[in-house]
Amino acid sequence: MRPTWLEVDLARLAANYRLLTARLGPNTRVIGVVKASAYGHGAVPVAKRLLELGVERLAVATAGEGAELRRAGIGAPIHLLGSLHPDEAEDALAAGLIPTLATLEAARALAALRPGALAHVKVDTGMGRVGVPPEALAGFLEAVEGLGIEVEGIFTHFAVADEDPAFTRAQHERFLAAVRPLKKRYLLHAANSAAILAGIATDLDFVRPGVALYGLPPDQALKSKLLPILAWKAKATLVKRLPPGQGVGYGLTWRAKGDEWVATLPFGYADGFPRALSNRGFVRLGDEYPPVVGRVSMDQTTVLLKSPPPPDAVFEVVSADLDPKTSLTGRARELGTINYELATLLSPRLPRTYLHR
Ligand SMILES: *Cc1c(COP(=O)(O)O)cnc(C)c1O
Repeated sequence: MRPTWLEVDLARLAANYRLLTARLGPNTRVIGVVKASAYGHGAVPVAKRLLELGVERLAVATAGEGAELRRAGIGAPIHLLGSLHPDEAEDALAAGLIPTLATLEAARALAALRPGALAHVKVDTGMGRVGVPPEALAGFLEAVEGLGIEVEGIFTHFAVADEDPAFTRAQHERFLAAVRPLKKRYLLHAANSAAILAGIATDLDFVRPGVALYGLPPDQALKSKLLPILAWKAKATLVKRLPPGQGVGYGLTWRAKGDEWVATLPFGYADGFPRALSNRGFVRLGDEYPPVVGRVSMDQTTVLLKSPPPPDAVFEVVSADLDPKTSLTGRARELGTINYELATLLSPRLPRTYLHR
């Protein structure tokens, strides 16, 4: 086994799921968003546990992600988020996914491949990315249904649910106003994690939480009731004492001042430990925070120690909490990005183990 690995706690996934569902209306069900390998946590084990917990549907971002879930024997409905591109229609149908339609080109491609195909239509209520404008919705539905496609649902997506509840409520209102005049009854959904936590659009047919299921606060706050479900651990491959003046790593950007203990850890930026943490980041060992010294390499990272650790010491590369130095959220703030990005950067080559499976 590789001496660095991820531990994903599925009991914490369940706790986060309950925290979110406690906020939902009585008839509101959950589409669990497991795109990008369940935000780096591993799509199949996470999806299976979500379904056991009562999640009714899943959502992915690519047809390949959906196919992976199918190969694992998952039969639940799976949504393909994002506006379907005609090039992906065949793979989406082969994997039995429910595509998102926002263009007539994609609707035509889908109808040509499979008359009667199921789809959801997306409305743009203010994000400006994917979706038909609200005033064009009725005409678009008529055209799509005229092609023989079965539109099962209509949805929208919130742009600032983590920071602007007033704008988010206005988006929700725009969505309701767009669907109100329609004659047919469609399944409706809008809320992402931040909207659920803000109590907005929590009583439609579905909600679509992603990041909060993984215990990561969507607003990047370092205080939250959510429980991060992922820890990244590593053992040192080498601990050595460096003489004063000895440089470390590519570019020799750090040099030992006195005699210093330095551990080499067996992961690098190819595993999703950002190179920007060179001479800047920390790992955790007990209650100490060994700093990264020298540049992070592709497969190795060096940290400075006060004294040699016990032989089998386990370093926390990512802690399953909101530690400002070592959690995904804390580190994202330090690097000027978001926990979503650091989670999805975690490479598939890191072994993943699942607790409470
Ligand atoms: C990714 C995504 C979600 C989940 O968003 P979170 O902020 O992770 O909860 C919901 N809906 C759509 C359309 C998405 O692309």
